[in-house]
Amino acid sequence: MTQERRVALVTGASRGIGRAIAHELGRQGRIVIGTATSESGAQKIDADLQQNGIEGAGLCLNVTDQTSIDDVLKVIAERFGAPTILVNNAGITRDNLLMRMKEDEWDSVMDTNLKSVYRVSKACLRGMTKARFGRIVSISSVVATMGNLGQTNYAAAKAGMEGFSRALAREVASRAITVNAVAPGFIATDMTEALPEAQHEMLLKQIPLARLGGPEEIAAAVGFLTSDAAGYITGETLHVNGGMNM
Ligand code: NAD
Repeated sequence: MTQERRVALVTGASRGIGRAIAHELGRQGRIVIGTATSESGAQKIDADLQQNGIEGAGLCLNVTDQTSIDDVLKVIAERFGAPTILVNNAGITRDNLLMRMKEDEWDSVMDTNLKSVYRVSKACLRGMTKARFGRIVSISSVVATMGNLGQTNYAAAKAGMEGFSRALAREVASRAITVNAVAPGFIATDMTEALPEAQHEMLLKQIPLARLGGPEEIAAAVGFLTSDAAGYITGETLHVNGGMNM
């Protein structure tokens, strides 16, 4: 299989970092499947990919639902062939101080941000093993190493994702499948838009490069880790945070 025809699956590609990753992989000549949580979101991705001259499709996927994952992978395999590049990007926040955190806030973040990585990675492994090539990149966060007030659930899920990646990297290395994480700092997307102004100001003071990152700067790191050039990097977390944590 030539590098150009590789099929890349990007979860949560309707906006923000996921959308930028879909564009970057498209620029690299991948067939890109971007997922959204609704049919209308999937159609928007379809149109967006087309407008940017990227072959692929937008599909509807809920990463907390195994049936939805199985259905989407079946459609992808039939239409394009099994993905050999997977970017686990879908994620949510449900912030609260631990003293006030409801079990549902803990569970939904664990399910969407961590268990999803188990589900989708496992479902894609068969195709990668068959191709004797694979790239799995999961989008972690600087919070996994630094911690953050109100984010015990999110930090635990992201740190879990990084441990998962290292363990899986060892399991599948003999098949030329690499498994890595990219840990963004604070990136200008809908997720950070929700932060109060005062918190935003405080954040900038902690970032040596004195600005939020752009989604395309995370996409560039993912583009590298999914490329042939990164074939000797596995079990690694690439930090992209403006120097916030070094
Ligand atoms: P965003 O909220 O703009 O996008 C999140 C995406 O995940 C959306 O497309 C959404 O539809 C999708 N999603 C949510 N729940 C889903 C589900 N159950 N099934 C399928 N898809 C689902 O956020 P973003 O800022 O673009 O974040 C993308 C990733 O980067 C997330 O994993 C996030 O934790 C991580 N991250 C973001 C920042 C940041 O500063 N923005 C920093 C570190 C890490």
